[in-house]
Amino acid sequence: MTKQFFKIERNAKLDAAITRAKAGKLFVRPTVTFRRYIVINRENGHAYTVEFDRTASGTKLGRCSCDSKVLCKHLAASLPLHLLIASRRFSQPTN
Ligand SMILES: [Zn+2]
Repeated sequence: MTKQFFKIERNAKLDAAITRAKAGKLFVRPTVTFRRYIVINRENGHAYTVEFDRTASGTKLGRCSCDSKVLCKHLAASLPLHLLIASRRFSQPTN
């Protein structure tokens, strides 16, 4: 995956992507790699890899293996699950 990361901000672009994600039949599956998800489109069977990252200053980033040039529905579909997993990870002791 060589694609650029998109900045994930709560704005109209993200809202539009969330709307597209809700309209599609997308299934999001976590992987063994933290911040990486597989998004399966149940209408056509295509699977995409989504990755999130975070800069040192706290900006959320995301990228997807699909051909979209804008923040895509796969990223939007994975975001709630990622936020849940990330919040659990950081609220539990890691030993
Ligand atoms: Zn995508």
